[in-house]
Amino acid sequence: MKNILEETIQTYGIENWGAGFFDVNKKGNLVVRPGEGEAAEADIFEIVNDLLKRGVKLPVILRFPQILSYQVRKLYNSYQTAMREYDYKGAHRAVFPMKVNPRRDVLEEVLREGRRYNFGIECGSKPELFAALALEQAPQSLIVCNGFKDEAYIRLAFIARQIGKRLIIVIEKVEELHIVLRQVQQTGVKPELGIRARLYSRGSGRWEKSGGETAKFGLTTSEMLEVVRVLRQHNMLDCLKMLHFHIGSQITDIKRIKNAMKEAARVYCKMRQMRVDIEFLNVGGGMGVDYDGSKTSFDSSANYTMQEFANDVVYTIKSVCDEEDVPEPTIVTESGRILAAFHAMIVTNIQDEIETVLDDISAVTTNEDDPQVVIELKDLVENINSKNYREYYHDALEHKEELFTLFNLGLINLEDRAKGEALFWEVCERASKFSQQSKIVTEEFDELKKLLSAKYLCNFSVFRCLPDNWAIEQLFPIMPIHKLNTTPSEHATLVDLTCDSDGIIEKFIDLKDVKETLELHHFKPGEPYYLGFFMIGAYQEVMGNFHNLFGTLNEAHVIINKNGYLIKKILPGSHISDVLMMARYDKNFLLENFNMHLEEQVKQGNLDAAAAEELRTEYMKHYEGYTYLG
Ligand SMILES: *Cc1c(COP(=O)(O)O)cnc(C)c1O
Repeated sequence: MKNILEETIQTYGIENWGAGFFDVNKKGNLVVRPGEGEAAEADIFEIVNDLLKRGVKLPVILRFPQILSYQVRKLYNSYQTAMREYDYKGAHRAVFPMKVNPRRDVLEEVLREGRRYNFGIECGSKPELFAALALEQAPQSLIVCNGFKDEAYIRLAFIARQIGKRLIIVIEKVEELHIVLRQVQQTGVKPELGIRARLYSRGSGRWEKSGGETAKFGLTTSEMLEVVRVLRQHNMLDCLKMLHFHIGSQITDIKRIKNAMKEAARVYCKMRQMRVDIEFLNVGGGMGVDYDGSKTSFDSSANYTMQEFANDVVYTIKSVCDEEDVPEPTIVTESGRILAAFHAMIVTNIQDEIETVLDDISAVTTNEDDPQVVIELKDLVENINSKNYREYYHDALEHKEELFTLFNLGLINLEDRAKGEALFWEVCERASKFSQQSKIVTEEFDELKKLLSAKYLCNFSVFRCLPDNWAIEQLFPIMPIHKLNTTPSEHATLVDLTCDSDGIIEKFIDLKDVKETLELHHFKPGEPYYLGFFMIGAYQEVMGNFHNLFGTLNEAHVIINKNGYLIKKILPGSHISDVLMMARYDKNFLLENFNMHLEEQVKQGNLDAAAAEELRTEYMKHYEGYTYLG
């Protein structure tokens, strides 16, 4: 027989999605490890309590730099293993795509750990490149410049070369080549160039559109030939060093990778045969993260491991090159999601439960003066059983309609309406219980179960913390970080603090399906109950927005060691002042206008000067407060 701990581990699927980083200890708390199979572990519940004692308010981002560096090593090793296995003669260079998580701490950790592997940077915009120019990276490493470019972007790229960085400008449009040529004329500096190819092959999953003939990015075959022709004409063909493609993020199906690789390797070989000495074949990103742990081609999953992905890339390129008798290129990879996703998580508290259904109907009393519809609902409550629950539930639905019709016609009062509603929900509760006990649960009662599930008010904003859950229904693992040695008794959905009905989470990871409710513990007001949101280190932080002016989160950087953990850094999230500044309410404006209101009240005799001063002080005290519930 399984014990409760094992059961909760299974309920939340930790072993499926946790990738060896997350587990549960004997106290029933979630623990985190710096890598698969590591003995060191830290109790996340303890970390959170420690932070709370230091005055750090929830929600908080926990960042584990060791997980980031573990993934950097793992990626490097996967390609090394594949290259040994298939006797690949070329090398591997990775670059970290800044758009995945442009935080300085993230870049610095990746570049520090990746220094001995010559890890570089991929950027797709001027601000990203601007930052990349200042970051410290290994001398042999690359900066790859993707994205649409103007004169200023290309100027920055030339500056990079002049300060000794090895930067490759990837031509995404033929026009960019002409800007480059003008720069060469003006500066005499010789750049290194790449071209982004438009493949027939597509990825799979949510970002399938990033690849294929009609993709937003990449040069058509004739445009590629045009670039080669123009470069040859300018005697600059030796500048063309890289062939690049990227068929989209979160590729869920490994077959798509093989196909794209075949096509890209073929393009590479044909160009080599045209005496274009391409050195780098850049295969882009796209390595998927198995968010739900199902190891399938479902949108929030991926049906392969990192090693399998690397094997397919290396093997396919190798075999096409052998066939075409062309030297093997240095393989450049731009994987971002798989490196960054695991290293950050959010912890927040359940603030309250939203009541939609009256829990206790013992206070509802009826008498003969009640409207007929109320008396009939009461009768249903009293006589519902396992044989008639279906019929009684249908009757209750009819009575509820009738209740509202009568109310809208002005025939019953608010008290009657309240009684009727309470009784109706009680019939629903009882019907739902009977249906769950029966062997076959029909769709109707599945819907009812969802309708009756608890709604937990969570101290956070979906738009800030999990934007992909809102925008594209991507799933993330969510679970309590403590109480895991007790059985969760409720089925709940989560609602956030924003005044937006989309600010809700009602899809959860499941091994075989998608769950519409999450198993959670009974919420008791005043008792702390903390939830963790996992694998948010890729894309979520930078894409989160300021809906309702909820700001960025407090943040702690945690090192895991054999004594538990060390909090290395605490960074404050947005204050009310910060988010107001962003919306162009500067401090003077706020103070002057608030003062005007105060003076008006003083003039009218509604406030004396001392009371006004007190209000002013208090107003400004809140200015430095956290934007979430305290
Ligand atoms: C977004 C992007 C990446 C990163 O993709 P992941 O799926 O996060 O690995 C790499 N290269 C390019 C060109 C991109 O646009």
